[in-house]
Amino acid sequence: MNTDTCIFCKIVRGEIPSRKVFEDDELMAFHDINPMAPVHLLLIPREHIASMAELEQRHRNVVGNMMLVANRLAVEQGSPEGFRLIVNTGRIGRQDVYHLHMHVIGGASPLPGMIMKS
Ligand code: AMP
Ligand code: ZN
Repeated sequence: MNTDTCIFCKIVRGEIPSRKVFEDDELMAFHDINPMAPVHLLLIPREHIASMAELEQRHRNVVGNMMLVANRLAVEQGSPEGFRLIVNTGRIGRQDVYHLHMHVIGGASPLPGMIMKS
């Protein structure tokens, strides 16, 4: 996968549409196209990092900022009483899109014990 064909890089470049809820100079967040809960956002670095498994020391700040932004977005976007962050990683983690992304999942009522893929 390279940045020309990566679907989330295309979203970063504005080549395909997204329902954007946040952006700054290093991160972007938008609604998941196939939401699994009333609040289901994807938070990504603008930089193409394929997965959590590819993280390097130099990514420490951006990954830390993802946590802080996820927290704030969950509250602002309708999940003020808690939320769940998921980072599917690699084959075992059933990652489908190989551009690092954090699922921010929540809503008004408690989530199921675990969110499973079918
Ligand atoms: P993962 O299985 O963790 O790699 O999750 C990929 C997520 O990206 C899935 O929840 C998809 O619904 C979501 N997704 C794929 N394409 C798009 C898109 N164009 N806009 C928003 N979300 C997308
Ligand atoms: Zn990418």
